[in-house]
Amino acid sequence: MKQTGTRQSRKHYLKLLLVAAAIVVLVSSSAFAAGILRQGKASNDGAKRIALTFDDGPYPEITPAILKALEEADVKATFFVVGWRVYEYHDIFTTMNEKGHEVGNHSYDHPHLTSLTAEEIASQLKKTNYAVQKYSGKKPVYLRPPYGSYNDLVLEIAAENDMKVVLWSLNPEDWASPGVDVIISRVLEQASDGSVVLLHDTWQTAQMLPELITTLKERGYVFVTLSELFAD
Ligand SMILES: [Zn+2]
Repeated sequence: MKQTGTRQSRKHYLKLLLVAAAIVVLVSSSAFAAGILRQGKASNDGAKRIALTFDDGPYPEITPAILKALEEADVKATFFVVGWRVYEYHDIFTTMNEKGHEVGNHSYDHPHLTSLTAEEIASQLKKTNYAVQKYSGKKPVYLRPPYGSYNDLVLEIAAENDMKVVLWSLNPEDWASPGVDVIISRVLEQASDGSVVLLHDTWQTAQMLPELITTLKERGYVFVTLSELFAD
């Protein structure tokens, strides 16, 4: 009798352990997901803030055109760079860094991170951070996974590397080159205090920047980097 009781209580104990483990897994995965940044908090000092982000570069010619437009408008932005491109176009990357823009990690060669193993994901992050550090001396704080595609493993490995995952709150789909006016009107229609705007290093984006920035300034927006937007 006594033995059966012990066995039963052991079984009960095991069940409890399993339930506890399941809860830990659930809570931790939702905790990671809850940590994804998409939009800044509304500011409490009356200023409307907006963060322009540019994915996929550096590209020859296009990225310098974007940097020129930003400099002429005295705007700082955030560039999510692809690791191998940092090596290939390190002169452009160096200019980007010297002009005071923030740099984030957009993987080493732009795969769907969700199709990779843990080791492969870690390698994509670390190799790009290494390239950025080599030419700027700074370690990226933010990761934007290519295609915005992530799973718990991606979030976990980002956290292990002290990186925050950032998506966006405003996507004018400039990558499809829908026309300069279309990109501008999509951003203006959807802009709000704290918007994170997803843009890419494309010609239409470089062309539309002066008008977009001028109009947003007229509407009371100030331009910030992601670190400024997400500062406490
Ligand atoms: Zn991309």
